[in-house]
Amino acid sequence: MELRVRALETVLAEKGYIDPAALDVLIDTYQTRIGPRNGARVVARAWSDPAYKAWLLRDATAAIASLGYQGRQGEHMVALENTPAQHHMVVCTLCSCYPWPVLGLPPTWYKSAPYRSRAVRDPRGVLAEFGVTLPAGTAIRVHDSTAEVRYLVLPLRPEGSEGLDEEALAALVTRDSMIGTGLALTPPARAR
Ligand code: FE
Repeated sequence: MELRVRALETVLAEKGYIDPAALDVLIDTYQTRIGPRNGARVVARAWSDPAYKAWLLRDATAAIASLGYQGRQGEHMVALENTPAQHHMVVCTLCSCYPWPVLGLPPTWYKSAPYRSRAVRDPRGVLAEFGVTLPAGTAIRVHDSTAEVRYLVLPLRPEGSEGLDEEALAALVTRDSMIGTGLALTPPARAR
């Protein structure tokens, strides 16, 4: 695969269809500047600021852009708030649609056929494999991403996080908790 990519890149560059320097910028952007830490900052702000949270739930695209996160694959964002009564989980049953500006590039399992089919059929079973067991009374809603709409799950604020500032809160927010296949970490779990 690596050889094929290199061969393709060489041919495209030689023909002048792509600029290697521009490719380097793109790769650096997704490796170092765009990733789940962006989404974590959105979640931490929503946990800390009720007005921001209300805005996020009303117009996620604008609320997220106000923190500087916008661009390709994030043009139409919807935030889903987890509550004790309802847990949200995101999948793209068709392919791998994912909110790049807030979560970066999707993990391999998100793109896999088993996750894409089983998340819909057996969400509780999939969650168990991720180590998540929800109370029987918590309903699970599975959301199918599309080429247009991308979802960000707003996880439940963990116990013991009272009084933490936004930076400390953001450190509790895992990538998976924003997909709905995980929960935010409690401060002791984070310390471990
Ligand atoms: Fe997709």
